[in-house]
Amino acid sequence: MSIRLHDSLTRSLRELQPAQPDGVFRFYNCGPTVYAPAHIGNFRTFVVNDVLRRLLDLEFPGKVKHVRNLTDVDDKTIKRARDEGRPLAAVTKQWTDKFHADCDALNCLRPHVEPTATGHIREQIDMIDVLMKKGNAYRAADGSVYFKVSSFDGYGALSRVKERELDVGSALAGKSQAVDADEKEDGSDFALWKAHKVDDGVNSWNSPWGTGRPGWHIECSAMSKKHLGDTIDLHSGGVDLLFPHHENEIAQSECCNGTQFSHHWYHSEHLLVDGKKMSKSLGNLYTLDDLKAKGFSPMALRYALLAGHPRKQLNFTLESLHAAESALKKLQVICTVLHDPKYRVATATPAPSRLNEVLDQLRDDLNTPAALGALFKIGHEISCGIGGGPTDADAATLDQCLGVLGLEAIKLATPKSAVPDEVTALADKRWAAKQAKDWAAADALRKELAAAGWSMLDGKDGYKLEPLKK
Ligand code: AMP
Ligand code: ZN
Repeated sequence: MSIRLHDSLTRSLRELQPAQPDGVFRFYNCGPTVYAPAHIGNFRTFVVNDVLRRLLDLEFPGKVKHVRNLTDVDDKTIKRARDEGRPLAAVTKQWTDKFHADCDALNCLRPHVEPTATGHIREQIDMIDVLMKKGNAYRAADGSVYFKVSSFDGYGALSRVKERELDVGSALAGKSQAVDADEKEDGSDFALWKAHKVDDGVNSWNSPWGTGRPGWHIECSAMSKKHLGDTIDLHSGGVDLLFPHHENEIAQSECCNGTQFSHHWYHSEHLLVDGKKMSKSLGNLYTLDDLKAKGFSPMALRYALLAGHPRKQLNFTLESLHAAESALKKLQVICTVLHDPKYRVATATPAPSRLNEVLDQLRDDLNTPAALGALFKIGHEISCGIGGGPTDADAATLDQCLGVLGLEAIKLATPKSAVPDEVTALADKRWAAKQAKDWAAADALRKELAAAGWSMLDGKDGYKLEPLKK
């Protein structure tokens, strides 16, 4: 079974295949803006894209080229540097390093190329130059350069922006497009090059149109062209990027290169927290560090982020992380049994594992919840000998499934957890005392746990540990 993935441009499920004769699958994924720690909503998008990348690696071994950019110059990064009185490069390096550390903790593979906007000023200027020469762009009086939306008939095909009669001018208030409206010939035009302003400080570059800096959208068009060529196989990002960012990328790239930009567009939906959009003012914006401080492991977050269908909004709650921790423990038991030679069943004629269904669920529009469901159901059946005990093929396929889901860490002893080992040992002892109805011992152990800063919440089948509020 090949991979079929929803394509936002045609609004249909389409097979993923490399289009070019070299067989390389060209995959571009919009990366983070590096001015603050990424939040768990950002990480939903990056974890989903990581499973996609791993699935592509399985399908096209050694033939996937994955590029993900770092937005290291825009209004937000410049403002942060100005507020802190530090050079832009120091600020963006700090947050790039943090992003990498969080990605590593969440077991997200690094892209093959991770280009930066500031490292590709030349390439962006070159593209704008072509657009100017072809009549798709114009220079405003202040030295900014705008893309002329009316010059591209295909504008709006991705977002159907014209059909929805959306107010293009106001909707253009994306990452860095909210300013300069007075200079434009038309409200829907967007900035390719932004003339230097006092607030930009030293963060400007020379160009044929005067000093300034690139607009946000052009960076992805230029970096994708440089590292993957004029036409790519798949472009992805969170759903908020569909318009205007991706619509504008298509316009710039197709007008400049004279050919189709991407064969396939994939957008994953947003993460909500307690049913609401995440925001600092609502106090519901979590980073990975916030969750680690509450005693949760990064793997539990990874699991929780994959527990909902990537094309549906996912509601995150702390309860979902507790559920993820206990699911990982159950998965670990399945893994231990399937890998233990003493339970292994020899087969006369080796048959493919039933666990292949897990991979097929992922190949079917990246259905991560269905894949996890199949992993538990089939894994449990095999580990209990229902329909036959574990075979060599089952053990190997389980490893493949865990590898594509990025959950292979559960194979290594207990899942990495922020709960110290000695606390888990105390909790296990208390649970055993409770099962044995030794209430005095259970109470004494609860006190020991409290002294270590942890509270133990008893459930029907097990317990949860939570750090005590200081
Ligand atoms: P940014 O750093 O703002 O450029 O965002 C990085 C990525 O995170 C983009 O692909 C966004 O679409 C995505 N993103 C932002 N907010 C959320 C959210 N609440 N849930 C899922 N993805 C998000
Ligand atoms: Zn982008």
